[in-house]
Amino acid sequence: MKSIRLREGKERSLQRRHPWVFQGSIQKGGGDAGETVRVEAHDGAFLAWGAFSPSSQIRVRAWSFDEGERIDAAFFERRLAAALALRQRLPIDSDGVRLVHGEADGLPGLIVDRYADTLSAQFLSAGTERWKAVIADALLKLSGSARLYERSDANVRTLEGLPAASGWLRGDGPTELTMHEHGWRLTVDVAHGHKTGYYLDQRDNRRRFAEWVRHFGCRQVLNCYSYTGGFAIAALQGGAAQVTSVDSSAPALQRVQAHVALNGFEPSRSEVADADVNTFLRDALKAGRRFDAIVLDPPKFAPTAHHAERAARAYKDINRLALKLLEPGGLLLTFSCSGGIGADLFHKIVAGAGIDAEVDAAILARLEGACDHPTTLVFPEGEYLKGLALLKQA
Ligand code: SAH
Repeated sequence: MKSIRLREGKERSLQRRHPWVFQGSIQKGGGDAGETVRVEAHDGAFLAWGAFSPSSQIRVRAWSFDEGERIDAAFFERRLAAALALRQRLPIDSDGVRLVHGEADGLPGLIVDRYADTLSAQFLSAGTERWKAVIADALLKLSGSARLYERSDANVRTLEGLPAASGWLRGDGPTELTMHEHGWRLTVDVAHGHKTGYYLDQRDNRRRFAEWVRHFGCRQVLNCYSYTGGFAIAALQGGAAQVTSVDSSAPALQRVQAHVALNGFEPSRSEVADADVNTFLRDALKAGRRFDAIVLDPPKFAPTAHHAERAARAYKDINRLALKLLEPGGLLLTFSCSGGIGADLFHKIVAGAGIDAEVDAAILARLEGACDHPTTLVFPEGEYLKGLALLKQA
């Protein structure tokens, strides 16, 4: 068994069961990509079993803090069973579910989403890559699903020294499938969609949006960064007269219109714009358009804290424009999925946008990712999605 010896004073985070060991904390030792190594304190005391990753800044990701635990097929089956059992207990009104959420489920680098009867997974670390076949077999066995599509084409694979990989890992069939969210029918293409196919993390916020649109009687709705229109369907369900969805992806917008039809809404109630959101917002302002509700759900502007400053300006800009475009009393749902921007900072950015727009707004709710994307006590980095539901002053 290969081992990694940490520098003195670098044991603290593993002792607190945080699963990452950075390159700079290592005194000596190594292994092959994904190989299980014993991580030891400077005095040789056991700290964790982990997967070695020779080219990543995060050199080891811990599998287990229990010296007696063997990292083998049975280990992965236990961890996956626990993750699936948690989802069974959670209140989820959908057959689109995140079954495994990486570190939060004790499986660093592994993302597994279920869309109806199909699984879509990302293997994002050297450790999960090494155990891929074992994980795939266990997933099929435990979930009862016969099909698993691999979407290991995320940029973070490069940091791990891994090439992109995608395609059916187990079973096969059409890559487009239909799932249900709050009784709405939504299609997902696991091969060509973003990430694993869809953004399940916004599930609860889409339901709340539908309720608020109805409660506040919002008529004209603007859905920015719409992707395939989850929030658009929510708005129509909530009784909006007209929803405008803006995205820079033409295939996503086609799917918005398909979803409107699939759910039996009058096509004229949905309009799509293939545009850059920033440009769209400026043009809409010039044209004197106004909306009763706006959703801002941009992509990750700040992947890490290093990008926070530039990202902050970008968030502030779109929020300022949206606050101006809202009718008095209007509803704004604004999000950041940047790990590098915490909830407090996001609040400050949106507050700054309000000052620039010369409007105030009441915080109706603070929003976060759905419960099947858990954040654990020991791994605060897992908390990436934050949002505010705001009511512009009347
Ligand atoms: N709200 C969506 C998820 C949004 S993901 C949902 O509920 O499913 C972010 C989206 O922003 C992606 O669809 C991407 O195509 C789009 N996007 C990224 N940059 C953009 C830009 N500058 N202008 C318009 N859309 C953009």
